[in-house]
Amino acid sequence: MIEDKNQPRTSLSELGEFGLIDHLTKNFKINHNSTIKGVGDDGAILNFSNRQIVVTTDLLVEGVHFDLSYMPLKHLGYKAVMVNLSDVYAMNGAATQITVSIAVSNRFPLEALEELYEGIFAACEAYNVDLIGGDTTSSTKGLLISITAIGEVEKGKAVYRNTAKQNDLLVVSGDLGGAYLGLQVLEREKQVFEVNPNSQPDLTDYTYLIERQLKPEARKDIVKLLKELEVKPTAMIDISDGLSSEILHICKQSKVGCNLYEEKIPLDQQVISTCEEFDLNSTTVALSGGEDYELLFTISPNDFPKIKGNPHLTVIGHITEESEGVNLVTRANQKVALTAQGWNALNKN
Ligand code: ADP
Ligand code: MG
Repeated sequence: MIEDKNQPRTSLSELGEFGLIDHLTKNFKINHNSTIKGVGDDGAILNFSNRQIVVTTDLLVEGVHFDLSYMPLKHLGYKAVMVNLSDVYAMNGAATQITVSIAVSNRFPLEALEELYEGIFAACEAYNVDLIGGDTTSSTKGLLISITAIGEVEKGKAVYRNTAKQNDLLVVSGDLGGAYLGLQVLEREKQVFEVNPNSQPDLTDYTYLIERQLKPEARKDIVKLLKELEVKPTAMIDISDGLSSEILHICKQSKVGCNLYEEKIPLDQQVISTCEEFDLNSTTVALSGGEDYELLFTISPNDFPKIKGNPHLTVIGHITEESEGVNLVTRANQKVALTAQGWNALNKN
């Protein structure tokens, strides 16, 4: 797509480094009072008065974390921001600023970076975060993007992974497995396209899955919802690697066990039908698929009435004593120890 001969291609060297940074960042606006100085100096200046600060960073590498043959650059920019905001929300924080650093090879024209920054811009607008800086450099091969997100949280309101308690309920937002299946569908189409470049894929049965893969949304709304419901989670994490791996993080760090109920795991209808088509087990996909960017948290059983029946939240298990282990209770009512599988286990199947 970036090799398309019909698209205008402006070489990055035509603008020079400073011209490029200015061109890419000129449309961004500063909205937060905490941003004293943004792009344009040696460093940004922030002032959060007496609130606590959340800082989180992620590095995305072409060929490792994304494939530009089916990931439009605009979506990549958007997703790169989401991945970071999701971590801020998982600390129960409010995201306020980001920095964006990129390394690009000369394979990328200005138009490609414009597209990338369109996605970053859309994310900043939709989630109300200020772009306050970054770095721009060249790479010998491919594209690298590193984003740092900054957020604020009131003293005493941050939620950690290591504070789940026995008898707490395990709750997840949204539904799981969609992003992984979206990737499987896109990979399959890529292979079809390589054999027959004129093929017109019909992806109408997979729209939700592809959206979950290409345009994930960080769950800012869930942090807000929990605040409105007056529920402070006892522990929280975002689902980037898969449900199973994240549950194990909470349990290990909190020194507790857990029973996760297979029948409770929320799945979209497209996840169920596409698992059948690909001959995949939907529970395995939800446990190990990753990239869903939902929030997984524990709450005190006393808070159950406040979340009961909420369409965005599903109770999927409960916290036990450490000695009971971390288990999946299957539909056949058998207990199986959960293992941290992630991508690799799925790829072997
Ligand atoms: P320095 O030489 O001090 O590292 P730079 O020339 O790299 O400064 O950056 C100038 C300004 O532009 C700084 O405010 C920096 O944070 C910002 N900046 C650089 N690259 C990017 C980028 N890719 N996206 C957003 N801001 C950037
Ligand atoms: Mg620099």
